[in-house]
Amino acid sequence: MMDPESPLAQINTQIRAFCDQSGRDPHSVQLLAVSKTRSPDELARLADQGQRHFGENYLQEALDKIQALSGRDLVWHFIGPIQSNKTRDITAHFDWVHSVDRLKIARRLSEQRPAGLAPLNVCIQVNVDNEDTKSGVPLAQVPELAAAMAALPNLRLRGLMAIPRADSEDHNRQAFRQLAMTLSQLRNTMPALDTLSMGMSADFGVAIEEGATFVRLGTALFGPRPAKDTR
Ligand SMILES: *Cc1c(COP(=O)(O)O)cnc(C)c1O
Repeated sequence: MMDPESPLAQINTQIRAFCDQSGRDPHSVQLLAVSKTRSPDELARLADQGQRHFGENYLQEALDKIQALSGRDLVWHFIGPIQSNKTRDITAHFDWVHSVDRLKIARRLSEQRPAGLAPLNVCIQVNVDNEDTKSGVPLAQVPELAAAMAALPNLRLRGLMAIPRADSEDHNRQAFRQLAMTLSQLRNTMPALDTLSMGMSADFGVAIEEGATFVRLGTALFGPRPAKDTR
């Protein structure tokens, strides 16, 4: 049952309020609970309150939780950097991948997707700040990568994801707006694209105002992460 005081209930209330304020349908925004470093019990408590979408960054840790919580009809999203030697397990165990930023990885995810599973839902991670150090494809290369990925049989390209440099609300709003504009341009040729994965604990309100369809929240739901989160 949903305890109205729980962080999950409060976040869902806030998401609805941001939708109302910006004239959006509250069902158009989904909460992705970012559960890296959290125990299976913590996830189970959220699942008991109705949370279905969980996002994980570290493969081995994620596989343990997917196994521990199997049978609960949860939807698993991979949102961390992807090494080529991890694609087989990722595409076998996840429903979504938000962090595809090169064709080589996309091809492997498609080729290695087990027969009998629906196509893997994927987003292209965009480096909206054009920082050398960050993952993500530069905005200018998005159309070419999207076109190539759309041709892969076992992937279903859904949209774009970004993690803007967290410095000011103004900066992030511009970054979210740019991502939304890029999606809307892609939709001219790929009208099925429907996903903008953007906004974290510190800026999800702004992200919703700018069109986010998944907000990815960790700290706001679970409290501060333990300091070991530097892997
Ligand atoms: C950890 C993480 C989040 C959640 O960040 P919070 O600030 O704790 O909400 C969202 N997206 C990605 C890609 C992450 O790695």
